[in-house]
Amino acid sequence: MKAAIYPGSFDPVTYGHIDVIKRAAEMFDELIVSVLDNKAKTPLFSVDERVKMLQDVTKEISNVKVESFSGLLVDYAGRKNVHVSVRGLRAVTDFEYELQIAQTNRLLSKGKLDTIFLTTSLEYAYLSSSSVKEIASFGGDISLCVPPLVADMIHEKFKDTDMTTIIE
Ligand code: ADP
Repeated sequence: MKAAIYPGSFDPVTYGHIDVIKRAAEMFDELIVSVLDNKAKTPLFSVDERVKMLQDVTKEISNVKVESFSGLLVDYAGRKNVHVSVRGLRAVTDFEYELQIAQTNRLLSKGKLDTIFLTTSLEYAYLSSSSVKEIASFGGDISLCVPPLVADMIHEKFKDTDMTTIIE
């Protein structure tokens, strides 16, 4: 069985991520979308909230499983015996960073973990979790960026919070 992991922060999941998930799910027998519990970042949503959002937005795709992990991707992938990581590329600006991670992962895994890149669909090329949070914090319309459930959860977060401190 061919499996892949799509790792990321997903803080929160956007239509851009969902587009990558749908396309990658067609390429593999199983796609594990995994939320990275990164202690170095202060996310808007907890890992549990992000996992729940992802489970909800992928519930119609039968070969997608949602999990979370902490530590190195190569260790997590090794434990699961998965050899492919999926990442999305929006623009040239993503490329240098992503290339570095992909090469590091190949090195650390002694060639066992490869990365494939899906270029973003043009309609989502502008979209990032940070911009969604910023737009929402100023009361802007995020309905073209995230599914309704996610939009509700973001608005709920911003209801009585000082927004300026939680946008990366
Ligand atoms: P990370 O902190 O790991 O970069 P993100 O949740 O921001 O986590 O992104 C996870 C992956 O999804 C990355 O490979 C990123 O390039 C990709 N991605 C983010 N937004 C989009 C988008 N709009 N279209 C396609 N890919 C995207």
